[in-house]
Amino acid sequence: MSLIQPLLQDEAFLQDVRDATADESALHIWWLGQSGFLLQWQGRHLLFDPYLSDSLTAKYAATDKPHMRMTARVVAPESLDFIDVVTSSHNHTDHLDAETLGPLLAVSPGMRLVIPEANRAFVADRLGCDAEMPIGLDDGESAQVDAFKFTGIAAAHEALGTDVQSRHGFLGYVVRCGAWTVYHSGDTVNYSGLEERLRPYNIDVAILPINGRRPERRVAGNLRGSEAASLARAVNAKLAVPCHYEMFTFNSAPPDEFMATAAELGQPVRVLRAGERCTVEKPVSGEVTSR
Ligand SMILES: [Zn+2]
Repeated sequence: MSLIQPLLQDEAFLQDVRDATADESALHIWWLGQSGFLLQWQGRHLLFDPYLSDSLTAKYAATDKPHMRMTARVVAPESLDFIDVVTSSHNHTDHLDAETLGPLLAVSPGMRLVIPEANRAFVADRLGCDAEMPIGLDDGESAQVDAFKFTGIAAAHEALGTDVQSRHGFLGYVVRCGAWTVYHSGDTVNYSGLEERLRPYNIDVAILPINGRRPERRVAGNLRGSEAASLARAVNAKLAVPCHYEMFTFNSAPPDEFMATAAELGQPVRVLRAGERCTVEKPVSGEVTSR
């Protein structure tokens, strides 16, 4: 099977990031594959859960759970020397990759890392960083980090996971910057109370996994396409963007179901290719348009 090629890759991708305008009414979002997204707002840069290496393919090469990459890498982490904040939603390697975060930290020593507080010791061990360096959040906790205000939202992958101190090791993040509110759910299924939690945030862009549950493959499950579209509709997200597919053959799903349910429900969506930019604009009326 040949690799899916990103719409923009390497230097072409970096040029597109440089070309994006710093207009306050515009928010720029690029998909980096899996749950990785780059957000640019007013010249500030936030990376959600980047996975920009082949560490999982190498790790599982000789096992019964091979991680066959489906999409070529968008960009090398060592070329992203302009990142202000990066997140990890939980400890799985496609969301906390030492081979991505190590080079990123090396080229941007001042970059801040936002993680679930419950994962602090694990993160420090995996990254070989000072345990005091990351900014830890729990469900419902907020922190202003650079231009972005983060609030932790518990994620259920596939269950709500807490440590002995009842702190959540799986989070999503609601991020506010200027007039914008973005929800990156991390890896999650819907759970009782999630919609009620999210609705008051008036989410502009909801970034949600669509690969579903595969118990026979022994991997923790996520929303499937129809559930992701329904969740976006239920919380009145102005735009929904699917993710967590087309990275590994064993946990991918085509976005068709997500698009079909969204169309039925009247939920606006934007399905990106890896390396593609979505610019969302917010006129005074509050309606969000994407291009
Ligand atoms: Zn994942």
